[in-house]
Amino acid sequence: MKYWNTLLKNMSEYIPGEQPVDINEYIKLNTNENPFPPSEAVLKALRDACAGSLRRYPDPLANEVREIFASQNGLNKYNIFAGNGSDEIFTLIFRGFIEKNGAAAFPFPSYPLYSTLAEGSGIKYETVDLENNFEYNMDHFLKKKCDLVIISNPNNPTGTYCAVNKIRAFLEKFKGLLVVDEAYIDFYGGSAIGLVNEFDNVIITRSLSKSYSLAGLRVGFAAGDRELINGLMKIKDSYNVDSLALAGAKAALLDKKSFNYNIEMVRNNKEYLEESMESMGFEIVPSKANFIYVRHGNCPSKEMYEKLKDKKILIRYFSGRGRSEYTRISVGTMLEIKSLCSALQVIVGT
Ligand code: PMP
Repeated sequence: MKYWNTLLKNMSEYIPGEQPVDINEYIKLNTNENPFPPSEAVLKALRDACAGSLRRYPDPLANEVREIFASQNGLNKYNIFAGNGSDEIFTLIFRGFIEKNGAAAFPFPSYPLYSTLAEGSGIKYETVDLENNFEYNMDHFLKKKCDLVIISNPNNPTGTYCAVNKIRAFLEKFKGLLVVDEAYIDFYGGSAIGLVNEFDNVIITRSLSKSYSLAGLRVGFAAGDRELINGLMKIKDSYNVDSLALAGAKAALLDKKSFNYNIEMVRNNKEYLEESMESMGFEIVPSKANFIYVRHGNCPSKEMYEKLKDKKILIRYFSGRGRSEYTRISVGTMLEIKSLCSALQVIVGT
């Protein structure tokens, strides 16, 4: 087809986890969605927003939610950008901040969208292997000559966490732009967002998709130096966060009671999932997120994924170098975890 841009034509696409059409027939533990519904306050805000003025455009600057998010994180509104999910923010970062002959580096294994976006922007990238226990060693990134480093913290798919003092030590030496993707940080805390007050070359991204149970609403935030935020503002679509998303995000951010309860439930369920899997002989990478990265000597991960899928249970299987041994399992409801574990008992023979 002659209208193709060759760069985009030849890039490999990002393949999200399966979202089956008959989704309600599945136990879905493959995309790290929160197993619990969003808070009642969010649902009410969405209903009210529907009954209100959908014929009007939303606030193009998302002022209200930026102010709330900023004050909850000890920052100023001018340090905050609101996006259509954090994925949109990564796209804007590639579009706005890196020259065509620039270079980027990401951990491996990690969130594959980073490399897809680099390819789509024509930006060279390298990956930096995590240590054997999947921990970060930020010194390895310093050896790369690059303009952009993105780390996922806690890391998807391993759940491993890099401490803020290690990120600070890295920033003291690194001259490029560091993006810390904190999509999963709320589950166990330890955010690096305070570094925005210390360094002008760091962006922290957050998501309402996981800890606020709002993956369908598409809201994410970036926190950074005012000039970086102005840059994102300049290149975003005019109305990148719609009226419903703004209303839902505001209610979600303000309902701390539901948020804290949700986090506690996910943590409890995760503990139960880990104990059950351990008792079946699974090897589990210590995780600070709402998912676990596991393997079992009795069953290759692809086979495990396929056998569970036959039983309408979806987990995430990754093919390719260094990834195919493990599967990633999201924390579900107690009922979902129990069904998963009964199926696994048969599969791994314990
Ligand atoms: N970062 C990581 C590490 C993720 O795993 C995901 C979810 N796939 C995202 C960002 C995307 O978040 P959002 O829904 O806010 O776009």
